[in-house]
Amino acid sequence: MSLIEPSAISSEIWDVIVIGSGPAGLAFVQEYTKKLHQSKILLVEFGLESEPSTNALDESIDILNPENHHLPYDCTNKGLGGTSATWGGRCVSYDEIDFIPRSIIGDNCTWDLSIFEDVKRFYGPAAELLDCGKPAFNLKEIPESGNRRIAEGFQEGDWLDSAVERWSLPTRLGPKYNEILREASNVRVVFGIQASRIGESSDGVRTVELVDRSNGQALTSRGKRVVVAAGAQESTRILLQSSHLFPGGKTPYALGRFYQGHISGKIASIRFSGNPRLTDFGMPRDAEGIYFRRRFQLTTDALIREGLLNTAIWTDNPLYYDARHRSGTMSMIYLMLIAPVIGKKLAPAPIRNSLTKGKVSNVPAHLMNILRGFPKSLFEPFLIFSKRYLPKRKLPGVFLYSPKNEYALHFHAEQQPIEGNYMKLSEDGKRLQIQYGYTDEDVRSVLRVHEMLDAWLKKLGCGELVYWYPKEELAEQVRKGSSDGVHQVGTTRISSSAEAGVVDYDLKVWGTDDVYVCSSSCFPTSGQANPTFLLAAFGARLAHQIATQK
Ligand SMILES: Cc1cc2nc3c(=O)[nH]c(=O)nc-3n(C[C@H](O)[C@H](O)[C@H](O)COP(=O)(O)OP(=O)(O)OC[C@H]3O[C@@H](n4cnc5c(N)ncnc54)[C@H](O)[C@@H]3O)c2cc1C
Repeated sequence: MSLIEPSAISSEIWDVIVIGSGPAGLAFVQEYTKKLHQSKILLVEFGLESEPSTNALDESIDILNPENHHLPYDCTNKGLGGTSATWGGRCVSYDEIDFIPRSIIGDNCTWDLSIFEDVKRFYGPAAELLDCGKPAFNLKEIPESGNRRIAEGFQEGDWLDSAVERWSLPTRLGPKYNEILREASNVRVVFGIQASRIGESSDGVRTVELVDRSNGQALTSRGKRVVVAAGAQESTRILLQSSHLFPGGKTPYALGRFYQGHISGKIASIRFSGNPRLTDFGMPRDAEGIYFRRRFQLTTDALIREGLLNTAIWTDNPLYYDARHRSGTMSMIYLMLIAPVIGKKLAPAPIRNSLTKGKVSNVPAHLMNILRGFPKSLFEPFLIFSKRYLPKRKLPGVFLYSPKNEYALHFHAEQQPIEGNYMKLSEDGKRLQIQYGYTDEDVRSVLRVHEMLDAWLKKLGCGELVYWYPKEELAEQVRKGSSDGVHQVGTTRISSSAEAGVVDYDLKVWGTDDVYVCSSSCFPTSGQANPTFLLAAFGARLAHQIATQK
């Protein structure tokens, strides 16, 4: 790789300084270098090639509501490739509804459908970066799926069963780009450097203030343009520390506010009434071998009519920790996930936690399940693990056929953008404080979406929902069963006016002509989608825009 010593950073004026080498920074670099081979890019990365177990950025974050937010070290990774080092690889498109003003999100839809149409032009480069095949997010675009309905008797109407998530390898962009950047003669990468503040601009050259992690030495780089792609929380922190960028030295009202992620979990199963063999519950592969999965989603009209937040629901396995599932295979996997050393190797903490809920529960009952299911309960996990960990393209999840035609349902829903969820600097300006929780409307929407799916299935005579808790406990189960911090959205939002947001439709910080933010923090709404695919498309779009300005 074309590395550069920290001391050489100041030696030239870079065409673009990119802060952060996660999916956003690398999507930008990939597309920019395709367009402009001669331009000189400096890629500044905080992480080291061999990252220690603690770092100053994560150590200086306070999570004010840990009940609903993962701890800092579980939310991001540092180093080439950023958080792609542990991401799950689920690639999902945003939907039309996410760009339409709705009463349930107040006046916080500060972007519109024109930007959605525009960014979709860059789905190709995003899919290339993330290795998720062709960017087809509807079954109709995957003819080899046979275009079957999800279960016997199901029909589309208010509910769709044809929305699709696609899966990356999951690609670890660090190893992938190590090689690619080596060949890119115009990109210089510097590791172990923290960008702390965007500096002044004069004669078309902007400074960026940096700190060398190895010795604490202050450095300055100079570039014609700066792209802040340091992940949502750190991009937000950098802008909060750069108040001089804004009129009167006052940061925009929206900066750091309206922090969103997703409300997500399980409260019910779906019981189909037709032939279990005709239920399409798992993760097939398309003609290119890419894993995909269908999801239930409401139409735009139904969401608007019912005043609901955008939500996806998919069939899943029952809760691993609850031995009442009586599956020896699931019990075996559960015991491995909670085992002290092996568990950590099998899945990163947020994913492990979403499977086990951090509980060590009724181990004797799990052992009974394993005994009852022997020898299948031993060889089936082995087969699953061999598909999940050995090949380059890994099986994204574990799916067990249900002869009873009953599957757990997983919901993944948009949140209301509210001022009370925020990232802000502490009084002394040294720490980043994060407040994150769920509103009553977030919870109400999840419950109503379940009611509507139940009613739809019953109307078709195709099945029903089976709730896991008494009705009066459902709201509490939704609220306490969910946490996020791995999908970070909203804190530097796109807007059509400087008053309503932080960056314009081209991701340029309002009031500047050379500072851009490329992060999911720019998305004003969280939708039902995991953010990285759209973010990669925005990274490619930004590169295209800057390259064609020249
Ligand atoms: C366990 C887990 C599972 C996930 N699964 C999925 C999934 O299935 N699908 C999905 O869409 N998303 C998923 N995500 C989210 C996904 O990882 C992020 O959306 C994505 O990585 C964001 O990309 P980014 O480039 O903006 O930020 P990051 O990937 O966080 O990269 C930012 C980079 O900037 C560097 N940096 C930070 N601050 C500075 C600074 N001050 N100076 C210099 N460099 C700096 C960091 O070291 C890092 O390398 C998951 C996240 C986690 C934690």
